[in-house]
Amino acid sequence: MNKQLAYIGLGSNLQQPRIQVQRALQALQTVPESELIKYSHLYRSAPLSGNDQPDYINAVAMLRTGLTPLALLDALQAIEQQQGRIRTAERWASRSLDLDMLLYADYRSDDPHLTLPHPELYNRAFVLYPLYDCTPDLTLPNGQALAQLLQTCSAAGLSRISP
Ligand code: AMP
Repeated sequence: MNKQLAYIGLGSNLQQPRIQVQRALQALQTVPESELIKYSHLYRSAPLSGNDQPDYINAVAMLRTGLTPLALLDALQAIEQQQGRIRTAERWASRSLDLDMLLYADYRSDDPHLTLPHPELYNRAFVLYPLYDCTPDLTLPNGQALAQLLQTCSAAGLSRISP
C-alpha cells in the first residue's frame, strides 16, 4: 500500500497535560510503517464543557503511514491506553490523552468507529490553528482553504505555549 498522509489531533487536560502531549508525540514516532513528518506548536485551550475542567493542551501531528485507517486508529488507541486513558461514556470528559484522526488522505467514512474526516474538524480552533502550523496551504475536504477558514474562526480561549 502506498503511504498516505494523516493528521492526528492530540489533547490532554489531566496528569501533566503538556508532558502527556510530548510523550504522545514521541510515541507517534514509533507507529509501525509510519513516519512523523512534523507537528505543530503546543496550544492551551479552554475546555468546551465550561469551567469545571482544567484547560487542555493541544497539538496536531502529521504522519506518513502505510497503515490502513483502521490499523492507524488501533495504533492511536494503543498509545492512549499506554498513557493511562480510561474511557468513560461521558462526552467531553477530562482525559489524560485523546488522539483523534482528523484526516487520512482523502478517505471518507461515516462509520461511528472511524469517521473521516473527523466530524469536528471544521469547528474547533484548537484543531484548526495547529493544523495550520503543519500545512498552511492545506485545502480541506470541503474544498475550502484552511487559511480562509481561519479568518472566521475565533481563537478566543486559545493560546500558543511553545515556540
Ligand atoms: P473520544 O472519546 O472523543 O476519543 O472518541 C473515541 C471514539 O470515537 C472511539 O470509539 C473511536 O472509535 C471513535 N472515532 C470515530 N471517528 C474517529 C476519529 N476520526 N478519530 C478517533 N476516534 C474516532
